[in-house]
Amino acid sequence: MNMYDSARMADLLRPLGYDMSPAPQGADMVILNTCHIREKASEKVFSELGRLRPLKDDMQQKKGRKMILAVAGCVAQAEGEEIVRRAPYVDMVFGPQSFHRLPEMVAKAARGAGAVLDTDFPAESKFDFLPEEQASQGPSAFLAVQEGCDKFCTFCVVPYTRGAEYSRPAADILQEARRLIASGAKEITLLGQNVNAYHGEAKDGTWSLARLIEAVAALPGIARIRYTTSHPKDMTADLIEAHRDIPQLMPYLHLPVQSGSDAVLDAMNRKHRAEDYLKIIEDLRAARPDIALSSDFIVGFPGESEKDFEATMDIVRKTLYAQAYSFKYSPRPGTPASVQDGQVGEDIKAERLARLQQLLITQQTAFNQSKLGAVLPVLFDRQGKKPGQIMGKTAYMQSLYIEGAGQELIGKILPVRVTGAYQNGLAGELCTKQDAVMSFYSNPITQVSA
Ligand code: SAM
Ligand code: SF4
Repeated sequence: MNMYDSARMADLLRPLGYDMSPAPQGADMVILNTCHIREKASEKVFSELGRLRPLKDDMQQKKGRKMILAVAGCVAQAEGEEIVRRAPYVDMVFGPQSFHRLPEMVAKAARGAGAVLDTDFPAESKFDFLPEEQASQGPSAFLAVQEGCDKFCTFCVVPYTRGAEYSRPAADILQEARRLIASGAKEITLLGQNVNAYHGEAKDGTWSLARLIEAVAALPGIARIRYTTSHPKDMTADLIEAHRDIPQLMPYLHLPVQSGSDAVLDAMNRKHRAEDYLKIIEDLRAARPDIALSSDFIVGFPGESEKDFEATMDIVRKTLYAQAYSFKYSPRPGTPASVQDGQVGEDIKAERLARLQQLLITQQTAFNQSKLGAVLPVLFDRQGKKPGQIMGKTAYMQSLYIEGAGQELIGKILPVRVTGAYQNGLAGELCTKQDAVMSFYSNPITQVSA
């Protein structure tokens, strides 16, 4: 979501004459778009500001020009006044719901009358004020459809920093999707903090996420659709069926469970039990047998016992993930869990995290290795680090690289034979049409579309 917001900030600033700079040195404006989800993420902001300050001073002294320094995003929302106090050289501080006011803020900051602070939750929706012109995001694009959250999990800052749940009208989303496709997008990821809670206005009533996906899939030129991040409670039957019925909907789902213990899920206010999650996984696999799954886990939540942690290990063993994200519980100021009894020691958190990650790495590596020798359609979307290396994504969200290829592949979906499988991705080589057709008949589930 922050990547999407950053791209939209750039769209707002372009008419004022700004363009993207590859490095902060010599830039007229630097915006840190920040995350507040865990403590480490917000600590980074202050150390990054410390690194930027000499660049700002240098620009003023050597070139006589002002570098506007801004902090945006959820750290700005939660700690705006603290940022202005600790880093008075910062010119603008604004939250995720008010960045559409950037042009006014820039005008005020340029006048130099102290820091501009805007951490309101405005009555108007920022989406109504963002420019229609958008820079191309390339073959794989993000599109925000929903924002904020009303679920109030006891560990999470999102309802406080992003605000109440809001779904964009379907027509606006389809309009933006058409523009993204026209600017080269083959794949669109529909975004929201709680994306499957989407319930947007449409001409014929309120649309669910499944209905929205169906409408995006009908747009000419769209090859792949994804959505993230989902909550198990909102994994409705029509959305599960969409994985069976809509070929453009990719066989990959990030569905965070956080913990496998009912006692911990309860204390987290997740509103579902471990067995509900397992049932959803079963239904998803019945609808789309090859679906690849991903999740988020928090270890060391207050009150988590060794038995609770074992229940998390157990749900991982039962589900079999293609990839996952796991974190030590990080107490966030203002959230109920941060003042709950039974805080778990850092050493125990670290030890549990290491055990969980070991298991997840084993599963991820096994998932990648299960594709060795297969022919998979890959959307090439960027250059790799080494010359001649082009990177892409399989339908299952695995990164894949091929060697000795040219830039002309970027934006294409081509069949690739997987020749190497590692913990974090795959290596492959482009295959001939003949190869691809043979592979399709021997294993239709690989969905070769060459
Ligand atoms: N809406 C999604 C859901 O309900 O699962 C999650 C979105 S949250 C922005 C992303 C992830 O950050 C969460 O799934 C959780 O694992 C992690 N997270 C959030 N708060 C955390 C905290 N206080 N400590 C550690 N991890 C946290
Ligand atoms: Fe945070 Fe997700 Fe819970 Fe909302 S549903 S409070 S975003 S973890």
